[in-house]
Amino acid sequence: MGVPSVFLRTFGCNFRCRGFGRDRDTIPADEAMNPEVVRILGLNELNPYNSYGELPLVTTGCDTYAAIYPEFKHLSPLYTADALAIGITDLLPHKEWRDEHLVITGGEPLLGWQRSYPELLEHGAMAGLKEITFETNGTQKITNEFHDYLFVEWSRHARDYDKLTFSVSPKLSVSGEKWKSAIRPNIVAQYQELGYTYLKFVVATEADAEEAEQAVSEYRAAGFGGPVYLMPVGGVESVYTLNNRRVAELAMARGWRYSDRLQVPLFKNQWGT
Ligand code: SF4
Repeated sequence: MGVPSVFLRTFGCNFRCRGFGRDRDTIPADEAMNPEVVRILGLNELNPYNSYGELPLVTTGCDTYAAIYPEFKHLSPLYTADALAIGITDLLPHKEWRDEHLVITGGEPLLGWQRSYPELLEHGAMAGLKEITFETNGTQKITNEFHDYLFVEWSRHARDYDKLTFSVSPKLSVSGEKWKSAIRPNIVAQYQELGYTYLKFVVATEADAEEAEQAVSEYRAAGFGGPVYLMPVGGVESVYTLNNRRVAELAMARGWRYSDRLQVPLFKNQWGT
């Protein structure tokens, strides 16, 4: 938190997380779209949105809905690795990587995009980059090819720095996703072989924290040894401030860590944060 970082948001996710912000008995069925997103698509038909920045925010379901529903894919530009490396380096204050980190997020950044990262990270414009973080839901295996790249090439490239972090946010039932698909301890154990790995659960209530305990015991049984964080649900300030202190207490009571959502008080929730 507080490290100057470039966030690269990839398109596509294997989940929909329709449950966030809803009572458990009002979570839309698996095949249904989040009703708030349905409403936004209706508005889009009347008056088409031309960029992410124009899209309304949602208070239920996945808050990066435009990065997961194919109906919004046209708003995500498709870049070559070359154009992307040059474009994101150009965002930096010194036009080169110094202390900044690259955070690759989504959607789910460890879907098919794994094929493209070596070309991006080996690009000349990325030469000074020393630290990458994948923000993942923890359900996607690292392919053999990408594993070899991270293990050999990226380690050499980043030398003695921390270099690689997996920020794993497993989805509890508050998300609306099913336990069996969402809690994948053996996959997270694989990440741990490659880089610093922690678990970060988004919670609102004591029941969520108890569920997180159950999940942590499954991850521990598979060999996961890293730290555990709780983060308050609520991408919008009104929801977030209702439960951040409570979530900090739930974390402390278990000897776990608390993660704030620094972007909410600093920038509010909006596209681009
Ligand atoms: S895993 Fe993350 S990106 Fe995917 S639907 Fe859930 S909240 Fe959205």
